[in-house]
Amino acid sequence: MVLTRPTERVSFSVCSFEGNTALFFRRMEVSCRLYVRMAESPPGRQEKGGQWSTDLPSCFSLFMLARCLFALPRQLLQAHSSACAVTQRATMDLSKVVSSLDEFAALSLAESWDNVGLLVEPSPPHTVRTLFLTNDLTEDVMGEALAQRADLILAYHPPIFRPLKRVTWRTWKERLVVQALENRVAIYSPHTVYDALPNGVNKWLAKGLGVCSTEPIQLSTASAYPSLGSHRIEFSVHQSQDLDGILSSVWKIQGISVSTLPVRCDGEERTRVCLNTTQQALPEVMALLSQNGLTHRVEIIPLQKPPLPNTGMGRLCQLKEPVSIATVVERIKNHLKLNHVRLALGSGKTLDSVLKTAAVCAGSGGSVLQGIEADLYLTGEMSHHDVLDAVAKGTSVVLCEHSNTERGFLSELKEMLTARFHKQLKVIVSSVDKDPLQVL
Ligand SMILES: [Zn+2]
Repeated sequence: MVLTRPTERVSFSVCSFEGNTALFFRRMEVSCRLYVRMAESPPGRQEKGGQWSTDLPSCFSLFMLARCLFALPRQLLQAHSSACAVTQRATMDLSKVVSSLDEFAALSLAESWDNVGLLVEPSPPHTVRTLFLTNDLTEDVMGEALAQRADLILAYHPPIFRPLKRVTWRTWKERLVVQALENRVAIYSPHTVYDALPNGVNKWLAKGLGVCSTEPIQLSTASAYPSLGSHRIEFSVHQSQDLDGILSSVWKIQGISVSTLPVRCDGEERTRVCLNTTQQALPEVMALLSQNGLTHRVEIIPLQKPPLPNTGMGRLCQLKEPVSIATVVERIKNHLKLNHVRLALGSGKTLDSVLKTAAVCAGSGGSVLQGIEADLYLTGEMSHHDVLDAVAKGTSVVLCEHSNTERGFLSELKEMLTARFHKQLKVIVSSVDKDPLQVL
């Protein structure tokens, strides 16, 4: 028997993992939650159960066990409850937590190749008490999450990236999914969504340079066009032409909107037609205009999704006070809590050379930083040849290993999410999660 933290409304649960059955009892007035584990429970479940355990013989009837538990004096339960020194905490349904996370950072900010959002979902309803944050969800980290009784893991890197063709015990990625579902743990991944946020991973990384102004290297755009369609078509119609006939034909095409206004052009009264169309409807609109002899006067303007201020990939930083490369390297090591980083000095530069601008990109920065004019590149990893290109043009490069340029953001994220969920959820940052590479 395992007695765990008191909650506001959950009484106790009785589970048999061997028989794949579960009985779940609720009593509003009882403030203790009991997990009962049968003797042969699989590894992993024991930790999720709680703090004390006593194996019961597997032949013990679950039904009888449940009845016995109901018969336990409330005082006994409350006595056990008070021994569990865990703060009382409300709960949230997973769907509400996910909606709130999606509002906190819109998934439309993700790069097109990414795989973000809710990746693993236990059958509903799924109650979340503990939100567990990690940069990478390894099997060691999963073990820690289960020991911490996580109900939802927010893994910055998506544990499922390439499509899974099977879910077996064969590969570690598959095992993560199996363990998550067997233990009723959901997995959510934000990845490049959090890179793009105004106060996201890249902004956090840029703080390591010192006081500086920052702007995204690649601006994110809104998820939708501000008006219908992806193109605007404009043309003018003479008074002598059959405007009503043209418009009545235009209106029959799906996916367009039309507005008209009178204009005076070359001393002649005309009607200017402004027509928004989708990419799909564009050929049909052009065919119609061609039939009416209008194509030679048509302007086609591709519409753009509005850029989002302070939002996007990487950051270009202007330091308020120019400093030496040596000073910036020390600042970076302090910010990332690292004893070592790798430095490639730009051509003609020394540690005493002064720098004013830096381009940063959390994780793997090769593609985002390519061609950016800056005194310094700061990222987790870059290819040998990308480093050579940077050095040749006088740009110094600091590499810190991939996840070392991301992980520290989780501490800020913990504060943000704790406030967002009004302390309804217990938010934990993994202590096992670490970059796989180390300097000896
Ligand atoms: Zn990364």
